[in-house]
Amino acid sequence: MITTGEGGRELPNIENNVVLTVVGSGTLVPDPMRSTSSNLLVWAGRRYLIDVGFGTLAALTRMGIHPTSIHTVFLTHFHPDHIADLIPLLFTRNYTADVFVKKLSIYGPVGLSEFINQMTSAYGEWLTEMIGSSVSVFELKAEHFKIDGTDIQTMRVNHAPVSLGYRFEFPTGVIAFTGYTGY
Ligand SMILES: [Zn+2]
Repeated sequence: MITTGEGGRELPNIENNVVLTVVGSGTLVPDPMRSTSSNLLVWAGRRYLIDVGFGTLAALTRMGIHPTSIHTVFLTHFHPDHIADLIPLLFTRNYTADVFVKKLSIYGPVGLSEFINQMTSAYGEWLTEMIGSSVSVFELKAEHFKIDGTDIQTMRVNHAPVSLGYRFEFPTGVIAFTGYTGY
């Protein structure tokens, strides 16, 4: 039972206050104490989720954060330990009254649209309808752009065939995510 009641409502806009929370830091090896890759950035009344590995939704709700209160998802690559809870995140929006208060944006490497199309074949047309009504999907290469006044740079990293690192530049500092550690 989620008790925050936040739903899709906006967070208060606290200027220049960036909070990073590691939601999941585990690997593909199941671990009762650690879910897989996901980081939450809270900035200027926005919630950004970087990667949505399996276990992310449960971890968010344990933190008291309603999954549908996420504004933007950034995906580094398509391995299950970074993306497996993406479809459940969308499915959850189907059953949350506040879901259409705002849109969800999903950014990821080239292939993201095809991935979602394939998931539509597996899960059904509700996914297409949701993408059309309240979810926007953006494919990225190495580029430089702004979201909500935040300067964001993406770069190819050497991991899965299409893997992106993200660099977020806020007025108070820089946070970067490689999406993997390499070995
Ligand atoms: Zn990987």
